[in-house]
Amino acid sequence: MRKHIVAGNWKMNLTFTEADELLDDLMSELEKVELPRDEKVIVCPPFPYIEMASDYANDSYFAVGAQNVSDKDKGAYTGEVSAAMLESCEIDYCIVGHSERRAYYGETDALVAAKVDQLLAHNLSPIVCVGEVLEEREAGRQLEVVKKQVEGGLFHLDAENIKKIVIAYEPVWAIGTGKTATPEQAQEIHAYIRSLLAAKYGKEVADDISILYGGSCKPSNAKELFACPDIDGGLIGGASLKAKDFMGIVTAF
Ligand code: PEP
Repeated sequence: MRKHIVAGNWKMNLTFTEADELLDDLMSELEKVELPRDEKVIVCPPFPYIEMASDYANDSYFAVGAQNVSDKDKGAYTGEVSAAMLESCEIDYCIVGHSERRAYYGETDALVAAKVDQLLAHNLSPIVCVGEVLEEREAGRQLEVVKKQVEGGLFHLDAENIKKIVIAYEPVWAIGTGKTATPEQAQEIHAYIRSLLAAKYGKEVADDISILYGGSCKPSNAKELFACPDIDGGLIGGASLKAKDFMGIVTAF
């Protein structure tokens, strides 16, 4: 059975003290609830706060993820962080191919594939983001765009490795805009992604892969999105920066 996952992507926000406060608030909130056994909470802070987040997480309340990783193994790549480094910090997840990295840092499907390989080689689960921009949706090209990203970033993997991937469908027009995809729009793409996985790896494998929705997800809309059969949780940006809002989504299943 695939997991339900709510992952918070803090992006480039918060000072050390603010991050400490947020983690503290989050822990107090998480201590009050009993989450279903099949649900996982993941927090993805900026690199400098990863160790602090791991100390709070304490192997029990949430898992820690990074927001980026190098496609290179090691060596003279100033400013980069390798998958081996993340593994040595006992990080379990890493976001790859986020639309902000695709748009501002030229992350291509080939680069996403290389980063996925690095992460898998170091026992981390990649959270791979795909999604169309507004013009592509308006032109009715969303399925074609998502297919290209899924195939280009992931279809070099074998069935054993594809099972370690989490996919996040994030329509770019919904990220940080307050505009959420309707449950019908999101479900259509999630079912489509699952059908692509089923065609390549078989239904059993496809049914085991968690596909998250991302894009202005908040406590008020999480329930109806998460009620869709192919939506297995959310990748949360803005609402992950406030413990109460994030918890409103964590408890939406
Ligand atoms: C994101 O950037 O992954 C995201 C989903 O952001 P937001 O929730 O702020 O739209």
